[in-house]
Amino acid sequence: MVKEIEIVVKPEDSRDNEKIRTLILETVKEDRTNVTGYYISKRSIDARSKFPIYRFKALVFIDEDVVTPVHPPLYKEASSDKRVVIVGAGPAGIFAALHLLEAGIKPIIIERGKDVRSRRRDIKAIMQFHQVNPDSNYCFGEGGAGTYSDGKLYTRSDKRGNVLKILNILVMHGADPDILVDAHPHIGSNKLPVIVAAMRETILKYGGEIHFDSRVTGIIRNGDTIKGVKVNGIEEFLGDAVILATGHSARDIYYLLHDEKILIEAKPFALGVRIEHPQLFIDEARYHSKTRSEFLPAASYSLSCQVQGRGVYSFCMCPGGIMVPASSAPGELVVNGMSVSRRDSPFANSGFVVEVTPQDWTQFNEYGPLAALEYQKMVELSAWEAGGKTQTAPAQRVIDFLKGRVSTSLPKSSYIPGTVSTDLHEVLPIEISNRLKEALKKFDANLKGYISSDAQMLAVESRTSAPVRIPRDRKTLMHPQIKGLYPCGEGAGYAGGIVSAAIDGENVASAILNVSSNR
Ligand SMILES: Cc1cc2nc3c(=O)[nH]c(=O)nc-3n(C[C@H](O)[C@H](O)[C@H](O)COP(=O)(O)OP(=O)(O)OC[C@H]3O[C@@H](n4cnc5c(N)ncnc54)[C@H](O)[C@@H]3O)c2cc1C
Repeated sequence: MVKEIEIVVKPEDSRDNEKIRTLILETVKEDRTNVTGYYISKRSIDARSKFPIYRFKALVFIDEDVVTPVHPPLYKEASSDKRVVIVGAGPAGIFAALHLLEAGIKPIIIERGKDVRSRRRDIKAIMQFHQVNPDSNYCFGEGGAGTYSDGKLYTRSDKRGNVLKILNILVMHGADPDILVDAHPHIGSNKLPVIVAAMRETILKYGGEIHFDSRVTGIIRNGDTIKGVKVNGIEEFLGDAVILATGHSARDIYYLLHDEKILIEAKPFALGVRIEHPQLFIDEARYHSKTRSEFLPAASYSLSCQVQGRGVYSFCMCPGGIMVPASSAPGELVVNGMSVSRRDSPFANSGFVVEVTPQDWTQFNEYGPLAALEYQKMVELSAWEAGGKTQTAPAQRVIDFLKGRVSTSLPKSSYIPGTVSTDLHEVLPIEISNRLKEALKKFDANLKGYISSDAQMLAVESRTSAPVRIPRDRKTLMHPQIKGLYPCGEGAGYAGGIVSAAIDGENVASAILNVSSNR
């Protein structure tokens, strides 16, 4: 028999395995000699009452062998019979490659950026010298946008695939096993590069290939069947199928598909700002105490409301994090957030965004399926110009934004390239800024003090999801016009976040395996 039980643990006891064990055995109310073992299946913080507590769920095995749900996948040496070209080494591309290797099929990953280690220099150049390398930045390079991300692994995609398997593969490659049980698992941008490099080693060990500094510039096809890709304008890589997992910032890929008359569609996304508060304020509001216990993590929040018929919400909140320049080309300014595993910066930042709908991009309708992308570009250009044509971000205190006046001074910020005081109403489209204003009041009603002189907003948070969808058949996951082309991950519009992109990579690889097994 297996019993699921819940125990409540004080924060200071949450790492004391002996105490936890005693509590579990007391709670299960079974003769101890019959208990063969247990494992913790979930750990979450409950901060609703005055004193926050941890809730643990455990599965206790009575008179039977303990069976854990974690089964590491087995990879096979790739045979050379079948090769799949994967464009993009983000989570979607990497997990697609690993899944193909479970069946011994050779993945050939083509990545425009550099390996994680070399990529670090380019990240530094953006931060310190405002230089954006269009092939190596926070979005492009080994591990994709997931490498120097926050590494939050919470997802709502559990119906689309096996979340636990994805987390388990991350653990196999060096992630802390806590992610398997935490309700809101998090890795941190200091640990992600090592994990990404370890996954690369697995792919290479089993006979996969990874080509860095290799930007796909063309598609090779025979009529309506894709045969491979052209790289850096010269080299050709051929395969039995092509997975296109280039992320939401690969605008050249959208242009390429459009030029090739391959069907793509404009897609709604969300746009706004990053908002930053002192972490102490979020901790106090969430944990009801002036000081946070050392046994509790930096507190987070998730807020949403409707304003004039549209959703406005906090997005990718980074407790104890920093804001970063996530622009993927010169001449644009995009901000995002990340944190290290300790989440120990004195700042809490979050995207604060409004849903963008087709009525916003009517002025760009002449661009057809690229209209939403052109709207996104317009706002990013406007932020870049307001920031002095560098990666310095236009910023405003929240109270000044509400009053429509330029801030006479700005609070300290975690954003290393610097901030410049600007009225953000001049940077953001009116349909966005007006809704942000209304939403601030609603958020403040929920989280008292959200509107404060210490809080500031930086523009622009615009890469929440892709502004273009690359369509695919619901069953075969293949593009409806081009045989053998598999749009995948966030850039194609089928994922939003690390885990959901990884799941989509696995699903697309499974679809390819189904085709080969039916032949
Ligand atoms: C700063 C930051 C923080 C984030 N924090 C989180 C978080 O905490 N949790 C979370 O779930 N998500 C987070 N995200 C989002 C997450 O990283 C993405 O959702 C995820 O990486 C999408 O995966 P993907 O594989 O679909 O695409 P991507 O990760 O974007 O990967 C696409 C890859 O394709 C490559 N590529 C593009 N064009 C070409 C081309 N022409 N030729 C060859 N290669 C090409 C790119 O270089 C890139 O490596 C964050 C993103 C950023 C930027």
